[in-house]
Amino acid sequence: MNKVNYAKELEKKITLFQKEGRYPRLLLHACCAPCSSYCLEYLRQYFDITVFFYNPNIMNEPEYRKRVEEEKRLIAEYNRQVETGDFTGMHSDETARKIEIIEGDYIVKDYLDAVKGLESCPEGGDRCTKCFELRLEESARIAREKDFEFFTTTLTISPLKDAERLNRIGQEMGEKHGVGFLPSDFKKKEGYKRSIELSHMFDLYRQDFCGCEFSRLQREAEKRL
Ligand code: SF4
Repeated sequence: MNKVNYAKELEKKITLFQKEGRYPRLLLHACCAPCSSYCLEYLRQYFDITVFFYNPNIMNEPEYRKRVEEEKRLIAEYNRQVETGDFTGMHSDETARKIEIIEGDYIVKDYLDAVKGLESCPEGGDRCTKCFELRLEESARIAREKDFEFFTTTLTISPLKDAERLNRIGQEMGEKHGVGFLPSDFKKKEGYKRSIELSHMFDLYRQDFCGCEFSRLQREAEKRL
């Protein structure tokens, strides 16, 4: 079976919205500022975006707070560009729109319950599937509750994350909650590379592990090899 090119699917939808002359309301689930940097630079030209920071998988609270603050700082920087019209160094221009943010519940127990029995899975395995389901279901629920036309996630920018699995889960959660899921594969079109450039440009905090304590320990072990 041919693989779906989710980046192209998104482009097709954007072309259609542009023809219709509209900027749909999008709830963008975001995991951290570095991953958001490119996604927001790209999407803010075509959507009215509210970032949804919902990541109870970040088990260490100081780490969680640090990531939320960086997300807010990035959004403030992007909104300042829109206000001043100064887009120096950016790949977006005055078509960019301001971005809002909502912080979801931070209840680590919800994550631990979701991945119970899968704690020792390697990164990329079944534990991550449960983690994606938890975060995308809550994103779909909030998108529906707050009347967004679409939701999607920055998670597809990571070369370590399976875009096919994320898009399948997103689609299922959208259908379950009655809200549109926007397909994506943000790592394509040099998206991941651009996120690193933007992270340097804005001096963003870039963690070297995904989020849960299990991924942190795995990364520590890999570094020791
Ligand atoms: S490695 Fe990342 S995606 Fe996988 S369970 Fe941990 S936080 Fe979630």
